[in-house]
Amino acid sequence: MSKFWSSFVQDLEPYVPGEQPKVQDLIKLNTNENPYPPSPKVKEALNGEQIDLLRLYPDPNSTALKQTLADYHGLDQNQVFIGNGSDDVLALTFMALFSQKNKPLLFPDISYSFYPVYAKLFNIEPRKMPLNDQFEIEVDKYDLNDQCSGIIFPNPNAPTSIGITLDKIEALLKANSETVVVVDEAYIDFADNCESACKLINQYPNLLVIQTLSKSRSLAGSRVGFALAQAELIEGLVRVKDSFNSYPLDRLAELAAITAFEDKEYFQQGVQAIIESRNWTTEQLQQLGFEVLPSQANFVMAKPTSKPAEEVFTSLREKKIIVRYFNKPRIGDYLRITIGTPEEMQALISALKDILV
Ligand SMILES: *Cc1c(COP(=O)(O)O)cnc(C)c1O
Repeated sequence: MSKFWSSFVQDLEPYVPGEQPKVQDLIKLNTNENPYPPSPKVKEALNGEQIDLLRLYPDPNSTALKQTLADYHGLDQNQVFIGNGSDDVLALTFMALFSQKNKPLLFPDISYSFYPVYAKLFNIEPRKMPLNDQFEIEVDKYDLNDQCSGIIFPNPNAPTSIGITLDKIEALLKANSETVVVVDEAYIDFADNCESACKLINQYPNLLVIQTLSKSRSLAGSRVGFALAQAELIEGLVRVKDSFNSYPLDRLAELAAITAFEDKEYFQQGVQAIIESRNWTTEQLQQLGFEVLPSQANFVMAKPTSKPAEEVFTSLREKKIIVRYFNKPRIGDYLRITIGTPEEMQALISALKDILV
């Protein structure tokens, strides 16, 4: 602590990201990164010529990437906002759309742990909405409409991995037409039972969808996230961005993102491989007595029934496999396990067989 800090800094409770260990030979299943490299075309695109161009500022509006994303999602360029990872997009969203409204922001009690951090940073009252006993979001409980500053949730939810269907999101948008609803779709590309809310954007002026290239496009190290909405909502985000940092995306990140989006075939193969590994891992965990939540994401939430989750977490670590354990209400009995390559998942299952005997 320093006497030079602003007074609010003392009260902040910063987000703690999953560990990025320096040790080499670990199996890293703790931060939902993609086990496969980005499209090989990304490597070709980021050549010496691009490095030379780093002397110039990038396009402040990432226009080329915006056009790629607009084409991909069937929207106009002015319906796309781009940021330095979706965490950056989320922070600007909290500032532009939720703050200084003096009304609570609704989000699930078990959800992305950055939401309460942003709420604190921007002085927004959080109102945590309990998931039901099956860890599902109960949309009909979100009924404050103009009495709240907004609603935000991931779909599929994290860390539960459970998704909700588009008709539920549409019902939520209708019941809350006077407030903004943000759907954080970090994992939507891995879903096979629920779909993106993008197709509702032109019907609902109160909908903002946020996506990232960190998970399904293997570009976590490059920091690219984006938001999709009607042009007026997007303009609010642009105003805040241009009052804060005009160049959130560097040249290499923009080019990597465009290239990754254009390689549709590589993307689809990668997503399919992870869905197949997820299904295999789920079955194997169930055979070992785990209760596994029905996952729509690139990770599973699994509860060991013969030993406490924290003990299993520690034993896995000793075997150089890191997963995520949350010492928190309701999910303290679970492990969150990122889906890796088939070889990594086989190593996980055989380590668990040793641990649980
Ligand atoms: C991973 C994740 C993000 C952050 O993604 P970045 O684009 O890497 O900042 C946002 N929301 C949820 C729910 C996530 O799990």
